[in-house]
Amino acid sequence: MESFDHVIVGGGILGASIAWHLSCKNAGSILLLERNELASAASSRAAGLIIQASTKFAKTPLAKLTRDTIPLLVEELGESVGYHDVGSLRIAASSERALELDAMTADAEKNDIPYDWLDGVEAAAMAPWLDPSPILKAVFLPTDGYVDPYLLSMAYIRAAQARGVIVRPRTEVTDVLTEGDKVVGVMTDAGQVFCNTVIDACGVWAAIFSERVGYPLPMAPVRSHYWMTEPNESYGGEHPMTILPDVSAFTRPEVGGLVLGIQEPQSATFDAHDLPKDPAAFSPTKGEEHWDLLADASEAVAQFFPGIMQAQFSSYVCGLSSYTPDGEIVLGPVPGIDGFLAASGACGSGITLSAGIGDVIADLALSQQPVFDITTFRPDRFGPVDPFSEHFRAQCAAARASKSRKVN
Ligand SMILES: Cc1cc2nc3c(=O)[nH]c(=O)nc-3n(C[C@H](O)[C@H](O)[C@H](O)COP(=O)(O)OP(=O)(O)OC[C@H]3O[C@@H](n4cnc5c(N)ncnc54)[C@H](O)[C@@H]3O)c2cc1C
Repeated sequence: MESFDHVIVGGGILGASIAWHLSCKNAGSILLLERNELASAASSRAAGLIIQASTKFAKTPLAKLTRDTIPLLVEELGESVGYHDVGSLRIAASSERALELDAMTADAEKNDIPYDWLDGVEAAAMAPWLDPSPILKAVFLPTDGYVDPYLLSMAYIRAAQARGVIVRPRTEVTDVLTEGDKVVGVMTDAGQVFCNTVIDACGVWAAIFSERVGYPLPMAPVRSHYWMTEPNESYGGEHPMTILPDVSAFTRPEVGGLVLGIQEPQSATFDAHDLPKDPAAFSPTKGEEHWDLLADASEAVAQFFPGIMQAQFSSYVCGLSSYTPDGEIVLGPVPGIDGFLAASGACGSGITLSAGIGDVIADLALSQQPVFDITTFRPDRFGPVDPFSEHFRAQCAAARASKSRKVN
């Protein structure tokens, strides 16, 4: 019978990062199990933005660790992760959003994240497609960037394997084995594996997986999506990403064109039980046509990007992210079950938070105090909830709608 110290369930970016962080802390024997191909779910569909400062201050140090980790991984492996060091521009066109910028820059300063205040004209000089006229205030954060999320996931995996982690794709975990209130192993479609720690990094399936120990995690699958334009030299080539909280949108450059992401006022949500095991077989639509969704948002976005009406959009990417009602992660020990750790509910920021989440879970698995304050992320912070109910899912969709804002 096989036996490991730690079993990680889920081979997306969070499972991958946890594996690498555990291996860096000499945590003993580590097994990562993924039922499909590695990084084939949300982690390969992400837009790849690594935005360190946000309106959710508890996350900032975790995000900063990812930004700091990327060059270390690249050096360790000698491989690129497709990181583009372009910086980000965060724009405010209303007094509420301007106040958020003040609070966010104070938090950035606390975390040693550099930034510069800009006026609208200076911001538009960095992103030539941007109309300066509605801009009240803007901040440039030069150390933000974007990454290829698949390459970063695989870099964590390869670096973990080089340090002895066993990685098995196409192996499903079907149950958690317990004795009393203690985890003792997992059942897989290839047999039993004994272990002391089980880490639930199952992405949008994490609440279903944690049902195995009688504790469905408080999170729900919510649709995220973005569109891409054809190259257009007037957009400015490699230039900063932009966050436009007034219109719930973001952009980043993409081979001479733009990626435009939009947070819908009410995103589609799903009961995780209804999702197929292989996300390739699933399109998160509810009968809507994505061009209509883009058209609905275009008028608002046009105040910043007047060229949107003429833009040649050539592709659309959508997928599911796990959201929580308060927009914070679900991270840490699941109450009442010794040895079961949750690493999910990343609320559309799992790429950004990957190293921070990996570091926290590795410390917890080793019964050490994480260096970051994780009280905001406690799995039991909502009390008992039914995460599959329509009411709960609507709360999670609302958190996506206001993702880049503190005040709704
Ligand atoms: C369109 C889109 C754009 C996004 N853009 C960004 C962005 O710009 N920046 C950012 O930071 N984040 C972004 N995100 C969010 C980010 O992609 C996610 O937060 C992140 O990928 C979550 O990683 P994960 O490892 O938790 O989940 P996943 O990558 O979904 O991996 C979970 C894995 O668990 C496996 N699994 C589930 N159950 C089992 C089981 N029983 N046994 C074995 N394996 C199992 C699944 O097969 C899956 O591969 C975006 C998401 C989407 C959909």
